Amino acid sequence: MVVRRSRRARRWTIDLPWGEPARLTVPAAMPDVEIDRVLRAHRDWIAEERARQRPRLGLDRRSVSELEGRRAARELVHMLVEEEALALGVEVNRIQIRDQRTRWGSCSPNGNLSFNWRLVLAPFDVLDYVVVHEVCHLREANHSRRFWRLVESRRPSWRDQRDWLARHGPELLAFRPAA
Ligand SMILES: [Zn+2]
Repeated sequence: MVVRRSRRARRWTIDLPWGEPARLTVPAAMPDVEIDRVLRAHRDWIAEERARQRPRLGLDRRSVSELEGRRAARELVHMLVEEEALALGVEVNRIQIRDQRTRWGSCSPNGNLSFNWRLVLAPFDVLDYVVVHEVCHLREANHSRRFWRLVESRRPSWRDQRDWLARHGPELLAFRPAA
């Protein structure tokens, strides 16, 4: 556990970044006994969260460089975007493969799509779902019921993929290939 005092912190917060030590950030003036109390009170909770964060994807055994990953992702993503854009009758402007820390894909109002290269390490259906999700945003630029109906019409089992991302996404996002 790393304890960090911060002048800007108004109250304490605990972060549990995947694969890194837990981090307690406290206001600069917080007394040590208070810090100890917070740590004691949350020890079980931290252990439980950590247990849920056990690596399950075996990513450490995948000897893939970011370059290879990006290449493979680009190929698959382009293929799927093309297919889906044609089916939905939407125009795609630009497709980017990026090294995002917190998201899987995004869609800008001018038709630019971007995708996290790490999707190529997920099951194919998951990559496929993220692509379809973003292409659907070219028709519905929000998460309205109409949007989800559209996604459902294109990929009826999309909830399985969403659940996979909720369960395994943090581990995948934290993956850094060995240089
Ligand atoms: Zn969305």
